[in-house]
Amino acid sequence: MDSLSRRRFLKISGATIGAAAGSTVTGACRIPMEGVSTPGSGIRKVPTYCDICFWNCGAIAYVKDGALWKIEGNPRDPLSRGRLCPRGTGGIGAHFDPDRLRVPLMRKKRRGDEEWAAVTWDEALSFVAEKMEKIKKEYGPEAVAIFSHGIGGTFLKHTLKAFGTVNSAAPSFAQCRGPRDVGFQLTFGEDVSTPERTDIRNAGCLVLIGSHLGENMHNTQVQEFAEAIEKGASIIVVDPRFSIAAGKAKYYLPIRPGTDIALILAWMNVLVREGLYDKEYVGKYGFGFEQFAAFIERHTPEWAYPETGIEPETIRATAREMSRYKPASLVHPGRHATWYGDDAQRSRAIALLNALLGSWGRKGGFYYPVSMDIPEYSYPPYPKSKRERVDNPGKEYPFADVAISTGIRKATLSGKPYPIKGWFVYATNLIHALPNQKETIQAMQNLDLVVAVDVIPSETAGWADVVLPEAVYLERFDELNVGWFRESFVALRQPVVKPPDEQKPNWWIAKKLAEKLGLERYFPWKDIEEYLEHRISAAGLNYEELKEAGVISGVRQPIYFDEGVPDHFYTPSGKIEFYSLQLEKAGHPPIPQYTRPSGGPAGYLRLLYGRCPVHSFSRTQTNPILSDMVGENEVWVNTDIARRYGLRSGSYIRLKNQDGVISNPICVKITERIRADCVYLAHGFGHTSRGLRHAFGVGASDAALITRYATDPLMGGTGMNVNFVTFEPEESQS
Ligand code: SF4
Repeated sequence: MDSLSRRRFLKISGATIGAAAGSTVTGACRIPMEGVSTPGSGIRKVPTYCDICFWNCGAIAYVKDGALWKIEGNPRDPLSRGRLCPRGTGGIGAHFDPDRLRVPLMRKKRRGDEEWAAVTWDEALSFVAEKMEKIKKEYGPEAVAIFSHGIGGTFLKHTLKAFGTVNSAAPSFAQCRGPRDVGFQLTFGEDVSTPERTDIRNAGCLVLIGSHLGENMHNTQVQEFAEAIEKGASIIVVDPRFSIAAGKAKYYLPIRPGTDIALILAWMNVLVREGLYDKEYVGKYGFGFEQFAAFIERHTPEWAYPETGIEPETIRATAREMSRYKPASLVHPGRHATWYGDDAQRSRAIALLNALLGSWGRKGGFYYPVSMDIPEYSYPPYPKSKRERVDNPGKEYPFADVAISTGIRKATLSGKPYPIKGWFVYATNLIHALPNQKETIQAMQNLDLVVAVDVIPSETAGWADVVLPEAVYLERFDELNVGWFRESFVALRQPVVKPPDEQKPNWWIAKKLAEKLGLERYFPWKDIEEYLEHRISAAGLNYEELKEAGVISGVRQPIYFDEGVPDHFYTPSGKIEFYSLQLEKAGHPPIPQYTRPSGGPAGYLRLLYGRCPVHSFSRTQTNPILSDMVGENEVWVNTDIARRYGLRSGSYIRLKNQDGVISNPICVKITERIRADCVYLAHGFGHTSRGLRHAFGVGASDAALITRYATDPLMGGTGMNVNFVTFEPEESQS
């Protein structure tokens, strides 16, 4: 997507509009800077950008009398628009976290025993480099893999690529947004990108299918959601649980879990049968519409009713509602899309529904994101590997264009197609992110080297040989954020305060490790500021201005077809593919098909999980500010089910899954806001790492209960809503 968008950016960069007057040759606006320091006695303001999640909102941190005081949104930043989400506002708690890692640690006993010796950075990095060289000699450099999350992994990935590995993955693909991006790629030739290219604020009708805006706190999306509601947008929410977003909906559809494709097919049936789709748009841009229309003919609302539990008249009314606002009718693609194993096809169905509504490339639908042209730093080429990536041998998953984390895990367990002997894990807690914790732990036991780079002693760090303490985002420079968004911009992360102990920034760790490996030539810059200044100057911008403002915005560029974005689709046909020859050739249905999801054992309910609005994944439960707001999760249980099992609201129970795994005690929330065939809890709690003293054993872990997963045949994503639980009274556990 990035390369396609970059090509498009280059094509249209001459066609800037609106505020282009006065821009420089690089396309940046020179906004006059006001002072950003010392607004009051003893107070210093430092612009930076947030890292509590990957959204990277521009922020301004305040230091009062030498101590970190507070953080708020940077009004110049197009992502935050001057306001942070609750997690971002509580982000300063990361600096004060009593459980954070303080010094480099090396394992003393068996893996997983969590017994450590404090060592110097030199000792830790020498040990790691030596082990890496040994693995390289015996198995080749590709036998060292890296898992990372977020922008901070950039430099460490660079070191590993210079070392010769080709195996670099992020759980954000196969355990999160991957199916969505593949479904949209197959349909429109481009993915949805991060931040999502959804024009929520201009939508007349917004459809959320299992998408929990307001609980999933991606700042810009939530702000735009509030704007759309304020402007009177019609909201349709499809969810087995009455979420916060459902509370804002005109139509709430409490769908039977796992039947979303049936509903989408029925919606499309209504739009086509009643002639309510955007005929001109589909006629101009569509490929294979006749076959598509013939296929969906039998998928009537009456057909969908017994599957979904949604009445035919409600299906018709909501389809007509979407049509009323087209093309400003946006069916949100979601983000965490790994549910049932047919997720790329479900996402493709969502893409096709948007295509019928004519929303792609249109105001109130999906805009075309733009970016500033900040040249990359020029390094020597990476060594050429003789071996392919290990995660997808034989292209078993033909549309996985990004590495599959669980594919690397599988190769680590089997030694095929070749052995993996070292893992670097940067800022991701694989034990909470990947399904089936047993497989992850077994894979780590097969390794000669496990290195965790993190700010807290996560469960994954607990299984490492070496743990390297990273400075939190408020204490470090980092890679530039050159976002793809509705406005182009570049943002700088810079230190606000010093790390309290021996913690180091990611770029320092990556550079020092490269030096130990004899790869100095890949880090020709003296320090990160030299690197940053070089890139910013190469773009014709002023580094000092960026430091002062935190963000420099580019000129306004076209983002919709009717503003001049070229209406070309990077699919094989050059059109929107209602019928996919690519899929057909690969032996997969060219039009999404519905398969009824399997049920669980008698007496078990489907386990659903989601986000808590004040926490990010399993990373923030020891942040004292955020854990003060929400300290534990609770399990949502339907009132009738609670009655049947004799549960009381506020009491504690344990959950037992279909494979006999029993959770920590979790508080019961009895509610009418969830269907009777499922339960729900927020992800990220139930920690088992002893180093996380303030989160240890608090709440239950969905990840521990997700022992099963259904693999997406298109792209290798792991559908995780295929687990079932029943209740174990807390007293029965001694
Ligand atoms: S969405 Fe919230 S946590 Fe994420 S970067 Fe923005 S302010 Fe920080």
